Amino acid sequence: MQQWTCTQPGIFELQETEIPHRPHGFSLLRIKAIGICGTDIHAFAGNQPFFQYPRILGHELALEVVESDRFTAGELVTIIPYFNCQTCSACVQGKTNCCENIQVFGVHTDGGMREYIALEDRYILTGNGLTSDELALVEPLSIAAHGVRRGKIQAGEKVLVMGAGPIGLFTILMAKIQGANIDVAEPNPARLAFCEENLSVSSASQTTYQTVIDATGNKAAIESGFAKIAHGGQYILIGLQKEAISFIHPEFHKREATLMSSRNATIADFTYVMDLLRTQQIDVNPFIRHRFDWSTVGAEFQSIHEPERKIIKAIIQGKK
Ligand SMILES: [Zn+2]
Ligand SMILES: [Zn+2]
Repeated sequence: MQQWTCTQPGIFELQETEIPHRPHGFSLLRIKAIGICGTDIHAFAGNQPFFQYPRILGHELALEVVESDRFTAGELVTIIPYFNCQTCSACVQGKTNCCENIQVFGVHTDGGMREYIALEDRYILTGNGLTSDELALVEPLSIAAHGVRRGKIQAGEKVLVMGAGPIGLFTILMAKIQGANIDVAEPNPARLAFCEENLSVSSASQTTYQTVIDATGNKAAIESGFAKIAHGGQYILIGLQKEAISFIHPEFHKREATLMSSRNATIADFTYVMDLLRTQQIDVNPFIRHRFDWSTVGAEFQSIHEPERKIIKAIIQGKK
């Protein structure tokens, strides 16, 4: 079988290897579609902190069951790419998304840019009629759903989403499904236009919000968000950057504000998102702006970050 390996920043190599062996309790799966994530782009560019090469990227996956004791051959599935230990205090609380020993498939371990993978059954979710495009977007949609769930966002609540990259867009979508009243802060005019056209949300019109959600992962943006929190409000950080952040303590205190992070997603978020897709409450089509053939992955990654390509979400088609 073939696999694309990121051997070092800026280099993808198409390699030939054996189809993986399937241990007991694992299923053999064939990759149908791979969503490209910011993490993949950063890893390829060489600016993902603590990233080790060589690495097979790809964790947003639609797959077909080839051989399994639990699933039916031929059925489409997706995976939860957060390998967890089941014994740390986070796992014991059911918070496998922030396991102390987490290994993210395609980040800390080799991921899905290959023809076949063998995966432990407990990370596999049956697709139940979803298309491979939909299944490839379940993971980033679940990250957004998790952030919105962390904030217990209610109908009518005033929410500011900062950043309209894929996770920001999906966060807007998920908060809208909760009935929130959303504004977006996004400096890029093309992304802002996308929000207006496809999500009917526009630029921030108020000075403060009950809930502020960061999906920029940008230090300056994150620090500016503290001043946008209304008294009694909350700030949820979905985006991540690597520096310390600071805020004015008396300003934070007088608001009695709540600050929380939101990391990855749990199985509850995945099944929630899959139900929304199944009942057609989410249409993924506007978000998929580019498709790569399997054979062109190496070449396409060279230009994927160029802003003029305005890629919202790109999907790699699995090898035919
Ligand atoms: Zn991702
Ligand atoms: Zn754990």
